[in-house]
Amino acid sequence: MSFTYFIADLHLSPEREDISQCLFQFLRHNARQADALYVLGDLFEAWIGDDNQTPFNQKVASEFKHVADSGVKIYFIHGNRDFLIRERFAKQAGFTLLPEQVVVNLYGTPTLISHGDELCTRDVAYQKFRRKARGWWWPRLVLCLPLSTRQRIADNGRAASKENQKQLTTEIMDVTQQEVINTMARFNVQRLIHGHTHRPDIHDFEVNGLPAQRIVLGDWYDQGSILKVSKDKLLLTEHPFFKSAQ
Ligand code: MN
Repeated sequence: MSFTYFIADLHLSPEREDISQCLFQFLRHNARQADALYVLGDLFEAWIGDDNQTPFNQKVASEFKHVADSGVKIYFIHGNRDFLIRERFAKQAGFTLLPEQVVVNLYGTPTLISHGDELCTRDVAYQKFRRKARGWWWPRLVLCLPLSTRQRIADNGRAASKENQKQLTTEIMDVTQQEVINTMARFNVQRLIHGHTHRPDIHDFEVNGLPAQRIVLGDWYDQGSILKVSKDKLLLTEHPFFKSAQ
C-alpha cells in the first residue's frame, strides 16, 4: 500500500534522548516503507546555524539520510525554532527544503501543508518577530555572528518566549479560524496539514461551501506523534517512548 508520513514538533535536543530514540526507531523501522516523509517544522528545539556541527546534530542528519538513501523522499518545512536550517544541513540529512506554505498532491487530494505558526495571527508580538526573522536581512546578520553569540541569543530567546507564553491565553496561541479559511480559499484546497500548536486533532468545517479538513500534528514531548496518509485514509497515531528499566 502506498502512503506518506507527516511529523512535526519533535523539539529534538541532546538532553531528551527519549525523543530522539523514538524518532530513530520510526526512521529505521517505519519510514522506509513510505513514499515520502514530510517534516513540518520544529524538528529541533533550537537551531543556531548549519555550522553548529555537534555529534547530536550529525547523528540526527545521518539517521534521516539513511532513509533518504533508501529511496524515500524527505521534505522539510521550517518551524519557528529551526527556521535557520539551510542547504548544508538539508543536504546532510537528505532533506528537500520547501517554502513555508505549499500545496502537495496527496493521492489525488490537493493538500496545503505548513508549520502553522503563520496561522496564529492573534499573537501579534510573535507575528512581528516572525516577519523580521523570516525576512532577508535578520537571518543573514545573525548567521554572521560567532556560534557562541548565536547560542546565547537562542538561550535568551527561549527564556523570553517561555515567559511570554505564560501570559498568553490558549486562544491566542491557537490558529485563527478565519485565517485558516482565508488561506485555504486562497490556495484553493479543502485540506490543510500543520503542526506548531501541539493540539493533535482533525477538524471538520467548510471552505467555499464545501467540506474541509484541518489536520493538526501532535508534538513529541511525551510521546511520538505520526500522521499516515494514504488514498482513502488519514491515521493520526501516538507512539509511547521506550522506558528503560530503572
Ligand atoms: Mn512551532
